[in-house]
Amino acid sequence: MPELAPAVRGLTVKQPWPWALLQPGGKNIENRTWPIPPALLGATVLLHAGQKVDRDALSDPRITALPDVPDLDDFVTGAIVAHGRLAECHEEKGGCCAPWGDPTVLDPIFHWQIADLRAIEPIPYTGSLSLWHPRPDLDLSFLSHTLPKEEDSRVDEHRH
Ligand SMILES: [Zn+2]
Repeated sequence: MPELAPAVRGLTVKQPWPWALLQPGGKNIENRTWPIPPALLGATVLLHAGQKVDRDALSDPRITALPDVPDLDDFVTGAIVAHGRLAECHEEKGGCCAPWGDPTVLDPIFHWQIADLRAIEPIPYTGSLSLWHPRPDLDLSFLSHTLPKEEDSRVDEHRH
């Protein structure tokens, strides 16, 4: 059945990757072994930093090449840290999307593009696997704080 409300899903990612996704010139691809379900292309995604830090990733050259990498204990964990849009997804082929797009090794790797990613004041939250549904008690009003500028100016014009 089609959803009546705009689709919102959460995606839990271990640090340092959510941090890297939010750095200017940083990570621009999320790697998964499964594709974005077609029905969720265009959906809003809440980027959730998992409880645990991927310690091995702290020595990943792509991470260490970024400026001002936080210390292990300074990463935000267990919180929604940003929102964006599930924009595009394709199966890895021929080293596309390097360096942030991982290559297929055994299982196919899908490259996800999350557009319009915006950091928010972290909201403590327990994430889950897959693309999870936000709990009904999660206040999503922060999504409306970042409406496109055109929308804002159009409202102003009507008021004048
Ligand atoms: Zn790619």
